[in-house]
Amino acid sequence: MRSKAIGGRFADDFSQENILNIGGDMIHGISRRSLLRSFTGGVTAGIIGSGMAGQVLGNSLARSKSRMHPEKVLLWENTRREIRELLESGNLKAAILPTGSIEQHNEHLALVQDIAQATLISKLVALELYPQVIVAPPSPCGYAPYWMSRKGTITLRRETFQAYVFDVLHSLKTHGIRTLLVLNGHGGNHQPLKEAEEKWRKELGVTLEVDSFWRGIPREFRDRVLTSEENLSHADEFETSIALAGHPKGRVRRITMKQYDDAKLNYESGFSPDVEHFLRIDSRTFKNGKIYEEGENKLDRGRQRLSLFASAEKGEALIGKATDFFVAKMKKMIAATEAGQSWPLK
Ligand SMILES: [Zn+2]
Repeated sequence: MRSKAIGGRFADDFSQENILNIGGDMIHGISRRSLLRSFTGGVTAGIIGSGMAGQVLGNSLARSKSRMHPEKVLLWENTRREIRELLESGNLKAAILPTGSIEQHNEHLALVQDIAQATLISKLVALELYPQVIVAPPSPCGYAPYWMSRKGTITLRRETFQAYVFDVLHSLKTHGIRTLLVLNGHGGNHQPLKEAEEKWRKELGVTLEVDSFWRGIPREFRDRVLTSEENLSHADEFETSIALAGHPKGRVRRITMKQYDDAKLNYESGFSPDVEHFLRIDSRTFKNGKIYEEGENKLDRGRQRLSLFASAEKGEALIGKATDFFVAKMKKMIAATEAGQSWPLK
């Protein structure tokens, strides 16, 4: 499944069909040209080739080619012997746990978007810092009750999600990994993770940070790269660009606004009791018992319209920026652990 256009070195040597291979095709060693070539299969009427995006192409993508097999940064692709030896040598110092969601991303993006982008950035960070950092198994499902009126969305209860993440972190700590980063790719997970962060730090006694990938992309950078001034934060130009760059083989469907309108979608009424149960868990859809007055339908259509501005080149720039941010953060965290300093640094 991996296209020849995506860096011959990785073209055939491992299967794309693995369910955990959800971080996208884009990986170290890929050339910018091959990425751009591959985006011809992209979105709708995407605006191609913003000069800015080209200039700020994330250098993590074009950086030195690593000499190891890229899948070595994935914990689950190693054997127990390999992990044991990495730990005993003192080379393996940290782990990243990607979290996300399997949820609706409007008409054009695959449901895997949030966990795919978190996993992709986690992989790029781990590759940059190899062999110090390993990627723990991504948590595909997250907290998303407010999207349950859109078909395909899967949600966990808040406490299920938190308990799952804690158990994975606890396991990693038990094996002697003392620096842990939860790298989140889904908006609804941010608060549940943040509210548990300090408690987890205390319980585990490790250097621990929880953060969402978009926080590594400063507002002014985003504004320079993206065309649309509005930011609807979901399935819009931002996420669609990342999908085009991160998975050039195709997680973006070609959808026109006519097709959108012809579908006559309604997310403001007519919910089944089951759906309404989920929507009322979170205040996004219902406020004070009434549907959000700005209008779910208007927001949904707005996201669809903004996605038309997306391009893979913009996505590369955004991914590169986030990767650089988390490489720097991970280095600081590892240094703090080595120096016996508490985290976050005072
Ligand atoms: Zn998303």
